[in-house]
Amino acid sequence: MEYVDQVLAAVKEKNAHEPEFLQTVTEVLNSLRPVVERHPEFQKAKLLERLVEPERIISFRVPWVDDQGEYHINRGFRVQFNSAIGPYKGGLRFHPSVNQSILKFLGFEQIFKNSLTGLPIGGGKGGCDFDPKGKSDNEVMRFCQSFMTELYRHIGADCDVPAGDIGVGGREIGYLYGQYKRITGQYEGVLTGKGLTYGGSLARTEATGYGLCYYTDEMLRDNGKSFEGKTVVISGSGNVAIYANQKATQLGAKVVAMSDSNGYIYDPNGIDYKVIQEIKEVKRARIKTYLDYVPGARYVEGCRGIWTVPCDIALPCATQNELDVEGAQALMNNGCFAVAEGANMPTTLEATELLQSKGVLFGPAKAANAGGVATSALEMSQNSMRMAWTFEEVDQKLHDIMVNIYHTSAKAAEEYGMKGNLVAGANIAGFLKVANAMMAQGLV
Ligand code: NDP
Repeated sequence: MEYVDQVLAAVKEKNAHEPEFLQTVTEVLNSLRPVVERHPEFQKAKLLERLVEPERIISFRVPWVDDQGEYHINRGFRVQFNSAIGPYKGGLRFHPSVNQSILKFLGFEQIFKNSLTGLPIGGGKGGCDFDPKGKSDNEVMRFCQSFMTELYRHIGADCDVPAGDIGVGGREIGYLYGQYKRITGQYEGVLTGKGLTYGGSLARTEATGYGLCYYTDEMLRDNGKSFEGKTVVISGSGNVAIYANQKATQLGAKVVAMSDSNGYIYDPNGIDYKVIQEIKEVKRARIKTYLDYVPGARYVEGCRGIWTVPCDIALPCATQNELDVEGAQALMNNGCFAVAEGANMPTTLEATELLQSKGVLFGPAKAANAGGVATSALEMSQNSMRMAWTFEEVDQKLHDIMVNIYHTSAKAAEEYGMKGNLVAGANIAGFLKVANAMMAQGLV
């Protein structure tokens, strides 16, 4: 049996109850076949076997009290996956669906994504099955304080630096940081996505959405196309989706549909990102409320139907496995020629293969959405230097990083005989740096 098949079989046997983790390991290892063939030393060093096993998983109880005085117990995690090239880095997700499989999938992806940024950051991810929806600010604060009361002993500016993800935005990072500082007495860059008054970086809020568009723009240009005059559909209406809308619009496109987990809105005149920002970030309301602002728009119940809206470019920015074969087929039937992933693993393996086989330009998450973590790393640099760069400086660095990620991935794909396959290219380029660092550091 080939080395990759051996490792995949063992991973499937050991982690049979972790479907999301198996999905990402299968995708990544399959595209590494030509690399391990060229590097027999990796097999000898059991490199892939080590790569698929997290260095450490911390699982803990998070007790908190709601406004009515009732007790609640949630399950918190931090997956410290790989520290070969830098301190663990990756977001925290607060969503009822959170479990070990989802965090291992996200942590595994993060290793390669972080490597692709070219910055010295390892891979990690964490979170909790807590649902911030409908909770008061005080409830969210008490929950965050309880979560950090355990997490603080496992993280640090040079060891593990969490950030936001689904359900963890500026408000949550603020409460988490306050509690970390209170317990440790340390004013350090231990979290990113912080507010601007206490160590945050300008452009971090916008970074993932902007970065997604910078990457997509480069992919389009490399294929003789651009955002100018194109129709775009963006799923989700959270942090990534809002700023992807802003940047795509700035680059000349029109964003006609966005969604939340209940349904999607369609506005043929183009959705103003500021309205979504107001609905989601200020009012914390449902996307349906858009009709109160733009009565001519349409709201459709159910979020999956968004892929039936005709568009040239689709940017899935909500959650994993939201774009399946049926959605991909609907996009292609309507002439969509490019898909770039703002969310992590939003496209199923089968849908990805279908899109690629039909010649749709496909930008994979670990490359296309790396702008968030790259800017988090820039926030870490500014914290270490005790300095702050301007918005323009950070944005320019972000732009350059995304353009570089595109070309590094495209080049790696070509070098290994898979020209145009940006999924394989991102996996290979991200992997090689980590693999070389692991080889140099011996059996650890
Ligand atoms: P937010 O919590 O700000 O927004 C998430 C959006 O996705 C909301 O509109 C939410 O709708 C929707 N959504 C969440 N879960 C589901 C679901 N199960 N079905 C349908 N819709 C859902 O999160 P972010 O924008 O930060 O993250 C979105 C994606 O981008 C995630 O995959 C995340 O891992 C990825 N990402 C985020 C980065 C960042 O910097 N924030 C960096 C890199 C990747 P509702 O409000 O109804 O739940």
